[in-house]
Amino acid sequence: MKPEKALIFELSKPGRTAYSLPECDVPEADPAEGIPSGLLRTAPAVLPEVSEVDVVRHYTELSRRNFGVDNGFYPLGSCTMKYNPKLNEDAARLPGFARIHPYQPESSVQGALELLYTLQQDLAALTGMDAVTLQPAAGAHGEWTGLMLIRAYHESRGERRTKVLVPDSSHGTNPASATTAGFETLTIPSDAGGMVDLEALRAAVGSDTAALMLTNPSTLGLFERHIVEIAEIVHEAGGLLYYDGANSNAIMGITRPGDMGFDVVHLNLHKTMSTPHGGGGPGAGPVGVKEKLVPFLPKPVVGRRAEDGTYFWDWDRPASIGRVKSYYGNFGILVRAYAYIRSYGPEGLKRVSECAVLNANYMRKRLEPYFHVPYPGVCKHEFVLSGKNLKQYGVRTLDVAKRLLDFGYHPPTIYFPLNVEECIMIEPTETESKETLDGFIDTMIQIVEEAAHDPDLVKNAPYETVVKRLDETTAARKPVLNCTCG
Ligand SMILES: *Cc1c(COP(=O)(O)O)cnc(C)c1O
Repeated sequence: MKPEKALIFELSKPGRTAYSLPECDVPEADPAEGIPSGLLRTAPAVLPEVSEVDVVRHYTELSRRNFGVDNGFYPLGSCTMKYNPKLNEDAARLPGFARIHPYQPESSVQGALELLYTLQQDLAALTGMDAVTLQPAAGAHGEWTGLMLIRAYHESRGERRTKVLVPDSSHGTNPASATTAGFETLTIPSDAGGMVDLEALRAAVGSDTAALMLTNPSTLGLFERHIVEIAEIVHEAGGLLYYDGANSNAIMGITRPGDMGFDVVHLNLHKTMSTPHGGGGPGAGPVGVKEKLVPFLPKPVVGRRAEDGTYFWDWDRPASIGRVKSYYGNFGILVRAYAYIRSYGPEGLKRVSECAVLNANYMRKRLEPYFHVPYPGVCKHEFVLSGKNLKQYGVRTLDVAKRLLDFGYHPPTIYFPLNVEECIMIEPTETESKETLDGFIDTMIQIVEEAAHDPDLVKNAPYETVVKRLDETTAARKPVLNCTCG
């Protein structure tokens, strides 16, 4: 066994440094000048004293422990961990985009404004909406923004509607956003086929219904076949339809939430439009709305003058809910999305969806003989399996996920959605080859065989990772953060 690597704090030697500066040849300024005395340190910060090579090895080692789409297959359901073309990174780093300042005069940033304006139009066209705000910084932020728009809409009509309906298969951010926006949430059960239970929906809607939040395909990867009927039920009661478009991989260029009857939609550009994500940001969660909600959009939005075609920040929006983000959103992410959309074009985006759905169905079909299948039939961009057939060997879904680590795969999403026992939720994405898919499938089959013949092997995995199986309760309750410094 390799010896444990020392922590960078354990390498510290008093006086060792990673820099050498020339002699100071100007008068030294007092570094504390102007800082209130209460904010000054009384003792030096506890930092490791190490050489440059120690620092470089430390960060290189950490980067090699990291797992991302760039070093392996990452079939994490509901997260769309697809490959992010490096071309889009180059575009976001062009100095004309990367070095501009939000307070520059409009006349000096016409190119950037044109990009934002065109992206607003493109996203409206893709979703079937009438207008789009690019401000929200994440999916959940888009949900909250959309719900604030819905609230403003109902209030403008003198209606007090307090309830938001959410199916039981929904992403956890949906009820959370509804609660944060001041609504009460009501859960709608799914029927045996994984569709919204229409009878339960009919019983739940009423004069207090503000909206139904739905994603289609659902997080089970199933297309909601009754969507037109659902839209009618909610609209007849005076409620609006909110579309969680965080994962639009299955529908881009094929169908549009606006055509299904939705009034508000958010997209996760950091999932569908290929911005690297998973490390906590930054992201972008633009929100599209139908005509009746346009007056309430956050301000400013980018406008275009009919007279001379120049672009401007439109602040003149008296009914706006106000700003939801500093400046104009996460501009670099918007540049990546623009580059992504423009490099694929309409046909390319459609092909993305077709391949995402094909890959998911190929994988589903090959894995179905080895797992319990809660919802048989064709899926969209992702699908769920249940590991409950492995319980007979004392092996659980968690053990399968841990064992996958030994083969260099990021595990799928597990134990979500909550309505599937021992759930395994797989989203292969369109950017993976058949060879990669087959490699993962063969590994899953091997693990099922291991579970039957040598269950302890699976239950004690992983063996090849830096950190082995953790006692998750103790890790959360009594974390060992192992710093030997004072
Ligand atoms: C990822 C996701 C969200 C949340 O998006 P964030 O950017 O993480 O806030 C919401 N809904 C669905 C269906 C998702 O997959």
